[in-house]
Amino acid sequence: MSNDSFHQRLEASLRKLESVHQRRMRRSVEAVSTTECIVDGRLCISFATNDYLGLTRHSSVVAAFAAAAAKQAGSGASALIAGRSPFHMRLEEAIAKFEATQSALLFPSGFAANMGTLTSLIGERDAVFCDRDNHASLIDACRASAGRLLIYDRRDLSKLGDSIARRRMDFDATFIVTDSVFSMDGTLADLPQLCDVADHFEATLIVDEAHGTGVFGATGRGVCELQAVEDRVPVKIGTLSKAIGGLGGFVAGSNTLCEWLWNSARSQFFSTALPPAVCAAAEAALQVIASEPQRRATLTVRSMFARQLLMEAEMELISAAAESPIIGVLLRDDDLVVRVSQRMLATGFFIPAVRPPTVAAGTARLRMSLCCDHNEDQIRSAVYQLREVVQSERR
Ligand code: PMP
Repeated sequence: MSNDSFHQRLEASLRKLESVHQRRMRRSVEAVSTTECIVDGRLCISFATNDYLGLTRHSSVVAAFAAAAAKQAGSGASALIAGRSPFHMRLEEAIAKFEATQSALLFPSGFAANMGTLTSLIGERDAVFCDRDNHASLIDACRASAGRLLIYDRRDLSKLGDSIARRRMDFDATFIVTDSVFSMDGTLADLPQLCDVADHFEATLIVDEAHGTGVFGATGRGVCELQAVEDRVPVKIGTLSKAIGGLGGFVAGSNTLCEWLWNSARSQFFSTALPPAVCAAAEAALQVIASEPQRRATLTVRSMFARQLLMEAEMELISAAAESPIIGVLLRDDDLVVRVSQRMLATGFFIPAVRPPTVAAGTARLRMSLCCDHNEDQIRSAVYQLREVVQSERR
């Protein structure tokens, strides 16, 4: 293919996306605080980040980052070769302590953690049952694994049991993979029931706590802690990029699990290790999570407050745990959700629109995410404005 026809082909694909309103534009967003940012030159209250505990800007997290960054920017090599510095080692120990597991292993991102872990654990004679609403990184990781991918719907776990019962004799091992918090609506997985299914059929449950870590559970270990199933989940995957406020992924579990992943997870050892400063910041963030539990408590209060106001404003919410900081406001119509999000932005509120194919057809929504630093006035004014905009768009 000539260079010209190569680019024409791409242009045609972009036009096709545009015709179905799915072309995504790049923009830059300048954060000015944990709850405010500048978008297209306008100062907005942001409900668009995963910085649930406001740790991206916490003084001790930033100080730990700066002190380590003063000496070294990048890690220079993969962890396997020369990139695993004392900062990485200390962070892995801190994660294992925080998660109360024997061991933990760092990855370059949460995406890479899902990809590396699933492809290394699931072999060609295995089956993997994946929730249909799981994050793209879990779905891609299941697809990239050598195993047989089977999709299930968490709203009917008896069907999952039936499906495993029918098929499991065809496979050496069975895996069940789930998000603990579904990122597009804030609903929680029913982990005790999934553990029951896994126990019954001797399946291995893998839980991605990306949006659970730091937010749920008495000490912030996530939904596994909240739902008291930590001892029943052998593979817990997490990210340092959301409530922990930085970047990177991790797996927490037994020594054997982490040792095997260290030896087999390609996204781990074929990728450069995280910058040491990123590790220093994450270690400091874990200390803040332990020493400032009021952040988690305030987040819960604010999330419940926002949900309450949205219901009073007669918004249709995707039903989720009341304390979930991710709130899905269902508008259903793909064009409407974009128009509402754009008008909200024009009036100073950043609440992203989420449409198919990211979510199922007919479930276009606004994804509003809370930070413990949001105050009641910010939430009140956003909900008031949202009600006005939605009413005027529907008229
Ligand atoms: N899992 C889930 C549920 C997520 O929402 C995300 C990020 N949006 C990831 C994994 C990937 O994490 P990271 O951003 O650290 O790559």
